[in-house]
Amino acid sequence: MNPKVTVHLNKLRDNIQYLSKKIKDKNISIIAVTKVYSADPAIIHIFEEFPEIEYFGDSRIENLKSYQHSSKKKILIRIPMPSEVAEVIQYADISFHSELSTIYQLNQAAKKYNKIHQVLLMVDLGDLREGFFEKEELMSAVKAIIEMENIQLIGLGVNFTCYGAIIPENSNLNQLINYKHKIERDFHITLPMISGGNSSSLYLLEDKLLPQEINNLRIGESFALGRETAFGNEYKEMHKDVFTLSAEIIELKRKPSLPIGQVGVDAFGNKPSFEDKGNMLRGILAIGKQDISVDNITPIDTDLKIIGASSDHLIIDFTNAKKEYHVGDSIQFHLDYGALLAAFTSKYVKKEYVDWKE
Ligand SMILES: *Cc1c(COP(=O)(O)O)cnc(C)c1O
Repeated sequence: MNPKVTVHLNKLRDNIQYLSKKIKDKNISIIAVTKVYSADPAIIHIFEEFPEIEYFGDSRIENLKSYQHSSKKKILIRIPMPSEVAEVIQYADISFHSELSTIYQLNQAAKKYNKIHQVLLMVDLGDLREGFFEKEELMSAVKAIIEMENIQLIGLGVNFTCYGAIIPENSNLNQLINYKHKIERDFHITLPMISGGNSSSLYLLEDKLLPQEINNLRIGESFALGRETAFGNEYKEMHKDVFTLSAEIIELKRKPSLPIGQVGVDAFGNKPSFEDKGNMLRGILAIGKQDISVDNITPIDTDLKIIGASSDHLIIDFTNAKKEYHVGDSIQFHLDYGALLAAFTSKYVKKEYVDWKE
């Protein structure tokens, strides 16, 4: 059945084994972030094999809910919507925050469910996505949380390289440590969990640049794609092809490279421009922008070139192909982060699992 993502579970297992050891060797606990594969149950099952992974994290309550029976602690890593605090209490053990008003509501919900809920406060150190930005606001939030009966503050966290593309460094991470020390001193509490970022913090392990007090990392992409994400360096010990996409040719014809007639706007409101390359062998694959982000897939046959896509059609230049292709053939692609995220979210893309060790 096409289109589909093939998941090589044996390769994923190798990746988890290698990277989790590398992180655990530095006494850092691991949150496996499950959003990039939409908490796919077969993939979750592989992560379950590893005691080195202590936590599962996701931005969506639905995903945390889907593995409720896992023995791993579940963490909501996106700042919750005030309208979902009851679900946060029910389905997450820990959640991340940057708005005191939401934490008040969370405390009320925790009371109702007779639970103690643990929270981390996110600090914004320049990436300008989530987190407390002003020191005073952070300190007064801590003061208020300490008074709450059903909320326990267990740590601080920071996120980098998601929005502002700011790279985590020893210097900005040390600011987080300074906040930890100040809070512990001023309020006579201990903050046992200091979460120092995502896959873009991994390079700091190599050069001993990660401050010692950072004792947690949240890793999604690196397990899946085998590379750190601050600079995009690949780990030679890891597989880059845990996931492959295949889509099927539904039309293959020689056509001009320039559309004929007056140019308006495409289905997405953009005015396209085209280069005249003469006649081409053009193929259409039955997959589109609804299922993948076109800029984040690469044909494994390097003679093929992506021309463009609409909602449900992907157009490929077959002109330079050495292999002879026919309507009905499947074309394979490597997926990048954005494409993986979209492919697992699309109900039209089937999932297939390969595990050679079975
Ligand atoms: C998505 C996300 C992660 C995981 O990021 P990767 O780059 O996939 O490792 C970690 N923390 C937060 C807050 C996230 O939103």
